[in-house]
Amino acid sequence: MFEVNKDDEYIVTIEDIVDKGYGVGKHEGFVIFVKDAFIGDVVRTKIIKVKKGYAYGRLEEVVEASKDRVIPRCGIADKCGGCQILPMAYEAQIGFKQRKVEELFKRAGLQAGIKFNPILGMEDPYFYRNKAQFPVTKDKDGNIKIGFYAGRTHSIVDIDKCYIQAEVNEEIMGIIKKFLVSNKISIYDEATHSGLVRHILTRVGFKTGEIMVCIVINGKELPNVLKLSEELRKVEGMTSICLNVNKEKGNVILGKKIMPVWGQKYITDYIGDVKYQISPLSFYQVNPKQTEVLYGKALEYAGLTGEEVVWDVYCGIGTISLFLAQKAKKVYGVEMVPEAIEDARVNASLNNIGNVEFFVGKAEEVLPEKFEQENIYADVIVVDPPRKGCEESVLETIAAMQPKRVVYVSCDPATLVRDLKIMQGKGYEVKEVQAVDMFPGTVHVETVVLMSRNDK
Ligand code: SAH
Repeated sequence: MFEVNKDDEYIVTIEDIVDKGYGVGKHEGFVIFVKDAFIGDVVRTKIIKVKKGYAYGRLEEVVEASKDRVIPRCGIADKCGGCQILPMAYEAQIGFKQRKVEELFKRAGLQAGIKFNPILGMEDPYFYRNKAQFPVTKDKDGNIKIGFYAGRTHSIVDIDKCYIQAEVNEEIMGIIKKFLVSNKISIYDEATHSGLVRHILTRVGFKTGEIMVCIVINGKELPNVLKLSEELRKVEGMTSICLNVNKEKGNVILGKKIMPVWGQKYITDYIGDVKYQISPLSFYQVNPKQTEVLYGKALEYAGLTGEEVVWDVYCGIGTISLFLAQKAKKVYGVEMVPEAIEDARVNASLNNIGNVEFFVGKAEEVLPEKFEQENIYADVIVVDPPRKGCEESVLETIAAMQPKRVVYVSCDPATLVRDLKIMQGKGYEVKEVQAVDMFPGTVHVETVVLMSRNDK
C-alpha cells in the first residue's frame, strides 16, 4: 500500500470534512487530514504527522479555492474551535450535512426503501444558540480571557462577539470581565487546579427574553458576588443569577451544586405553545427555533391519534414528552438527571398536562424494570439519547416491548446508524429519515428517523 513520509508535499482535492473540522483529501488512496481545508478546495499540503493508514498535513497553499468558500462574518472563525465550517456558504453547509447522513446510511447498508427528505435548514443561520458556556482564563501577561477553546487545544480565544450565540452575551461578558478585574478575583488554572472562576454559563429564553447567568467556581463563594449581581441585574431580561460549584479536575463544566444569588432558580421558555422551566443543570436544546421544527417532525413520525401509550426515553426536562402528550393517551418519560425530572414534572403542571409520568434513572435500568416487572407497554417509543447513542440493552427492551413505531432523534448520525442496524436485526424497518440543521456553522447535524415494526 502507498505510504507517505513526514515533510512530503502533495496536491490533494478535499472531499470531506470530519467532526474536528479537518478537511479530508486522498493521495493514491492514502487519507490525509488537512486543517482549515474545505470540501472542494485543491490544496498543497505538507505532511506533519504519519499514523497507521493515514496522515496529518499542514495547509501550505490553497491552489484552487472551493466555489463554496465565503468570507465569514466572524473575524476569528479561523482561530476559534466553535464553528468548523463557518467559511462555507450556508447552502453548501447543509448540502454537506445531508450527504454526510446519507453516506453513513449507505455505508451501514441501510438504504433500501428509505425515504430521505431534504435537510431542513435555517433561514437566518446566525445568533441561534440559547446557551453559552464560556471558559475563563488568564494569559501569560495576566489578562483575563473569556471565550472559546481554540480548535483542538485548551488555549482560549478571547471573544467579543460570537455570531452563533445570543447577542446579549456580549453585554454580560463585558460586565463580568470588568468585575473580575476590579475585584481582583482569581481565575482557575487547569494545570495547577487552583484559582476560582472557571466558566460562565448563560441561557436565554428566546420567546420570553428571560436570562440566566451561572458562574462556575472552584470554591465555596465568589467574593463581592452581590456587587456583580447588582450590575448583571441591569441587563434587560435578567431573571436568574447563580453560582455553580465545581472543584473537580477535568473537562466536565458543571458541578452538582447550585447556589442561587439573585432571582428565580430557573428561566422559562416556550417551544410551540408548551412552556418549559429550565434549571442550570438540565439539558435543553440549544437552537429553539429548529427544535420546534425537529419536534414537529418527531410528532408527525409518532403518528398519534390520541389513543397511544408513548415512551419518551432520555426525556430531559420533558420537552418531547409534553409535545407528544397533547396528542397521546399517556406518555412516560425516563431521564437520569434528577433536576431535569423535577423540571419535567413542574413543566407538566405548568401546562396543565395530566397524562404524563416521569421516572428518574438510567434508561437501561428503568425501561426493562417497568416492562418486565410492571408490564407497561408502548404503542410508540421515542428515543433521544446523548451522542454515544443507546445502550444495546435499551434497544433490546424496546424491541421486546414491540411498539408499532420507534422514532429516533439523534445528534450523532454515526451512533444512529449503528443503533438502527441493531433495530433492523430485531424486526424494525427504517422508513423515513429527516436531517435538521440545529447547529449552523458547525459540522454537527441532528437527524430524526421513523422506524416501524415489520408485520410478521
Ligand atoms: N429529549 C430531551 C433531552 C435529550 S438529550 C430534549 O430534547 O430536550 C439526552 C438526555 O439524556 C439528557 O437529558 C441526559 O441527561 C440524558 N441521559 C444520558 N444518558 C442517559 C441514560 N443512560 N439514561 C437516561 N437518561 C440519560
